[in-house]
Amino acid sequence: MPEVILHNTLSRSPEPIVPSKGKRIGMYCCGPTVYAQAHIGNFRTFISQDVMRRTLQMAGYDVLHVRNLTDVDDKTIKRSREEGKSLSEVTEYWTEIFHRDCQRFNMLPPKIEPKATDHIQEQIEMISALLEKRHAYQTEDGSVYFKVSSFDEYGRLSRLKERELTTSATDESPNDADEYDRESLADFAMWKSRKSDDGDVYWQSPWGEGRPGWHLECSAMAMKYLGNHLDIHSGGEDLIFPHHENEIAQSECSCDTQFFRYWIHCAHLLVEGGKMSKSLNNFYTIDDIVEKGFAPVVLRYALTSGAYRQTINFTMDSLHAAQSALVRLRHFSNDSLAAAGLKWDSLMKAIQKGKYVNAPWGPFQKAWDTLRTDLNTAGALGGVFSAIKEEYGDSSPSETAIAFHKLIFALGYDLSEVVIEKPKIEAPEEIKELAQARWEAKQSKDWAAADDLRDRVQAKGWKILDRKDGFDLEAI
Ligand code: AMP
Ligand code: ZN
Repeated sequence: MPEVILHNTLSRSPEPIVPSKGKRIGMYCCGPTVYAQAHIGNFRTFISQDVMRRTLQMAGYDVLHVRNLTDVDDKTIKRSREEGKSLSEVTEYWTEIFHRDCQRFNMLPPKIEPKATDHIQEQIEMISALLEKRHAYQTEDGSVYFKVSSFDEYGRLSRLKERELTTSATDESPNDADEYDRESLADFAMWKSRKSDDGDVYWQSPWGEGRPGWHLECSAMAMKYLGNHLDIHSGGEDLIFPHHENEIAQSECSCDTQFFRYWIHCAHLLVEGGKMSKSLNNFYTIDDIVEKGFAPVVLRYALTSGAYRQTINFTMDSLHAAQSALVRLRHFSNDSLAAAGLKWDSLMKAIQKGKYVNAPWGPFQKAWDTLRTDLNTAGALGGVFSAIKEEYGDSSPSETAIAFHKLIFALGYDLSEVVIEKPKIEAPEEIKELAQARWEAKQSKDWAAADDLRDRVQAKGWKILDRKDGFDLEAI
């Protein structure tokens, strides 16, 4: 099986991915917090994870992809209070929008998509185990904290030094007045006792009414669904600390096993050189881009035009560049399918089902090798464009078409969505006059003159398209 190499945040170096069992690779991705529409930065991370899954699939692995939905936390509760709706009304609405957007981006749905609120029992059990092993303690108000000093390895992922642990490792409400009896600032809440702001969002637990902390949900769900396949865990780079550090601490202390071997993090997306923010008016969702006339595949291309560990600067110009690159890919797709006698839909379905995993990469070998080396999408695209400019050596038309479309599958571009439009350019006066003269010759049935004029127009790079009552001119 060809190797897929990914940069592991844990070792700070590239490593070949080796599944813990057989051909199956467990891949846990921290999912969205469903209180608002995910922005294009969030989607940069989710799409990179989709490329990772597709690449592993093309390498012949059986990928067990799990991505959770964070449907209870400070943000979701606040939103439901502001809107006077129940928590589930808010989170179900935004989950539906998220699914719709994922589909528009041509993302493969995860095999399992667990919700935090469906796994309260598992979270309570994990806290109980940690209390029993003295890795956690209960405070007077009925909250439970993880005791960071009880885990020697804390900080291994983020390379955090002891002295830096004076800052809070709690993601939500770090200055919460109710946390007065936390033993150390670094300790983080796994169970939050019920407060008036929580309204009716609470569950019963051995420590009283309350709700779980954000870090705990991922630990509990990842263990439940991937306990036997603790391979890849992934998210945006902002999740390294404290979220992933805390997940490791809770899981390794409660389950006495290494919690995932490969930690993969996606760099952030910048917009027009800066952070995306509503006040700067550069906060985009897929809808904002579609409204400007670009198909979602164009946005997907722009978001994958840099390798996932490079910061990408998103600009409107990058969409225009993506559009023209996609037109070239679509032309090559059409031509290669026609030469091989294949159809887009059936070929892409067969590729997805794994039918061509062992088919040769032919002229696209270099592009594939680049992609499977730390998902270098930028390099792989460069490889594709140089390959399609060349002669294809010994590859048959069907080998070439299959290899090209395997790569397009791994990158996840739905080329059938690409609009091929000839740029509308006004013809120069000289061409218009020649075409008009040809039209008149045609009306007076002087076919020889009409043909001669058509050839002269064509030789100057223009094509005459006849209509019933006149003609149009198109640049060749
Ligand atoms: P959230 O819904 O806030 O939990 O975020 C969902 C995912 O998007 C997480 O993996 C974040 O790390 C990631 N993320 C947030 N902002 C950006 C950004 N500007 N660029 C890339 N990924 C991001
Ligand atoms: Zn998570």
